[in-house]
Amino acid sequence: MSERPVPVVPQSPELRQCLADLGRLKARYALLPDRNYGGGCSTISSVQLTDVGIPISNITAIQCPLALNLAVWTREAVQPAAKQVFGQRVVRLESFGSYSCRNVKGRPQMAGTRSEHATANAVDISGFVLANGRRISVEGGWNGTEEERRFLRSIRAAACKRFQTVLSPDFNAAHRDHFHFDLGRGPFCR
Ligand SMILES: [Zn+2]
Repeated sequence: MSERPVPVVPQSPELRQCLADLGRLKARYALLPDRNYGGGCSTISSVQLTDVGIPISNITAIQCPLALNLAVWTREAVQPAAKQVFGQRVVRLESFGSYSCRNVKGRPQMAGTRSEHATANAVDISGFVLANGRRISVEGGWNGTEEERRFLRSIRAAACKRFQTVLSPDFNAAHRDHFHFDLGRGPFCR
């Protein structure tokens, strides 16, 4: 006898509201069951995210409030900046992922501390694909053309108003190729 998959039902009003807000932003997601993996690693109130209004690559489990902030940042900061700087819409976000059961990287003073990634409360954004096919990567664009530099600094500044911690190539070598956003402790913006 095969077991039918049990649909995951959001338990808290906050999560139900967050999922409804994600839906209004045309995000695509599936609610995941709460999981505690031990060792400080868990995915609670998390979704499997494939689209934040535009497709996003490489994301797995991400906490709903973080996914929502990412979708709002994409719509209210990334799209206007791309329009202004390149005269183009962004059609895809590229990421290095979200949930990862690991410690903080590249910060010796925090050695042994669990990363916000370990609770699906952090996401790493690595690039942006424009409607004309041009790709702006954090790694290539941070010190790239004047347009690329302006675009990436503008959306970082907007991210600093929306996320608790924002780390960019200005922070350290471990972040030379992506923006790290999380909703953990802060505010911290570099
Ligand atoms: Zn990160």
